[in-house]
Amino acid sequence: MEAITRNFFLFLSKSSVLNNFAKNRGGHFAAGKIIGGTDFTSSIRFIRELNEKGLSVTVDHLGEFVDSEDIANERTEECIQTIEMIARENLDSQVSLKMTSLGLDINRQLVVKNMTKILDTAEKHQVMVTIDMEDVERCQATLDLFKEFKQKYSCVSTVLQAYLYRTEEDLADLNQYQPFLRLVKGAYKESPQVAYPEKSDVDDNYKKLIKQSLLNGNYTAIASHDDHMIEFTKQVAKEHNIPNSQFEFQMLYGMRNQTQLDLVKQGYKMRVYIPYGLDWYGYFMRRLAERPANLAFVFKGMVKS
Ligand SMILES: Cc1cc2nc3c(=O)[nH]c(=O)nc-3n(C[C@H](O)[C@H](O)[C@H](O)COP(=O)(O)OP(=O)(O)OC[C@H]3O[C@@H](n4cnc5c(N)ncnc54)[C@H](O)[C@@H]3O)c2cc1C
Repeated sequence: MEAITRNFFLFLSKSSVLNNFAKNRGGHFAAGKIIGGTDFTSSIRFIRELNEKGLSVTVDHLGEFVDSEDIANERTEECIQTIEMIARENLDSQVSLKMTSLGLDINRQLVVKNMTKILDTAEKHQVMVTIDMEDVERCQATLDLFKEFKQKYSCVSTVLQAYLYRTEEDLADLNQYQPFLRLVKGAYKESPQVAYPEKSDVDDNYKKLIKQSLLNGNYTAIASHDDHMIEFTKQVAKEHNIPNSQFEFQMLYGMRNQTQLDLVKQGYKMRVYIPYGLDWYGYFMRRLAERPANLAFVFKGMVKS
């Protein structure tokens, strides 16, 4: 049943009719609930609301797999403006982005050019930029780019996915760069040739990676809504005297709001991932595929608004 529901939402996520409808009509419905807004400016008030409650933020302009150089360049300029606005408005926010949104599928030179412009701005304003991890076909290219940028810039971090068999080795390989890393379970549909098919194996590997990254002494973001992973992290930190300043928890905007606040009250750093942009429909359907119960909180929000 779970697989059927998941496939149903993944099927809906690809509907261009619904996507266009959502783009043209639905922005106000999603804003402040699952996305910040349809652009960065309209997201600022939600970022401030979170900051006032002690929550840090990372923002992500929705839209990936860009196949036009003009759009990749537009995305780059937009990202630069976002970083400048974060600095000007004094927001406690970082930026997350995907290499395919800057042209990874077009050519490598284009991504390097675009990312260099972004990181020059980020470094000037000391705003961290995290390179999200996409599907496994882009994993090596993404890690290679990260290593290249990390040698020149301090304000860059990336993501490792626990469902991939390769990740333990990637974590060891990245250690020499003293990276800031976000650890996640992994969100793409991957084959058993490259990824653990069983959830219990993904969870076990996730715990292994959390512990190793913390023991390596690297700043680690545990991006999960799973209480088991949160409790495991707290326990490892306690057992090995790892200070709270060496790690943070991250969750998606609109998910587990009370847990987010509770973690802040307990003295942990909590960062909320706020996507924004017109392409919110596919993002939302993928979240429903992960956890259909998310529908309930959206309807609650609709009734209130
Ligand atoms: C900040 C952030 C950034 C991310 N970046 C990336 C990325 O770059 N690349 C990538 O591949 N993936 C990324 N992901 C997605 C990630 O890989 C997972 O697909 C997603 O987080 C679901 O896994 P989970 O660990 O949250 O828990 P799951 O394994 O989905 O759920 C475990 C348990 O957690 C609880 N739970 C989960 N969600 C909720 C909820 N909404 N409310 C209440 N309880 C809940 C339930 O008890 C559930 O059984 C990111 C996730 C976050 C939070």
